Amino acid sequence: DSFDQMNLHENLLRGIYAYGFEKPSAIQQKGIVPFTKGLDVIQQAQSGTGKTATFCAGILNNLDTSVNDCQGLVLAPTRELAQQIEKVMRALGDYLQVKCHACVGGTSVREDARILGAGVHVIVGTPGRVYDMLRRRCLRADNIKMFVLDEADEMLSRGFKDQIYDIFQLLPPKLQVGVFSATLPPEALEITRKFMNKPVRILV
Ligand code: AMP
Repeated sequence: DSFDQMNLHENLLRGIYAYGFEKPSAIQQKGIVPFTKGLDVIQQAQSGTGKTATFCAGILNNLDTSVNDCQGLVLAPTRELAQQIEKVMRALGDYLQVKCHACVGGTSVREDARILGAGVHVIVGTPGRVYDMLRRRCLRADNIKMFVLDEADEMLSRGFKDQIYDIFQLLPPKLQVGVFSATLPPEALEITRKFMNKPVRILV
């Protein structure tokens, strides 16, 4: 199996190979294509399996960079993880002219607002700052079509449930949702029931 057989955008493939990936990991083999087809996916996977590149590739493949507005939003439980994901997104999207930004607490709100105002395609952030940007209308949600919760169980155990629900309320109703989680506790399942449409469940 190879990335070549996934029907991915040519410049995304270039980015994947340039990043040094030769063959897809198990989760990438199972998870990238359903995401690029627009399906809601629940992927039960630990970190270390290659889950980051799974949703980064899925999002990057389906972006329209001629639209200068946010189309993909990823939430992660910690600032460090969000920043790490944003770097992977940026690297894999190196040949796609994609603009990414990490939206996390502990950084300048004004600088975030300036960057978002100039237009970005993908935002990776922590729930608090992302909600703040949406509420202030610095982040326009109109064109967001892909939403990924990474380490959903971890976000819930850190008390981000209300903020995640608030963010869902501000996103367009026609939304593709990806949930990545090592475990699926009741609160995570509740999210999948409330906000996902016929999700495909992938276990690695
Ligand atoms: P993750 O589970 O996303 O945190 O990824 C774990 C590690 O595996 C990271 O260091 C990735 O760079 C690496 N990795 C992910 N996918 C691949 C791949 N297809 N080939 C080689 N390394 C990979």
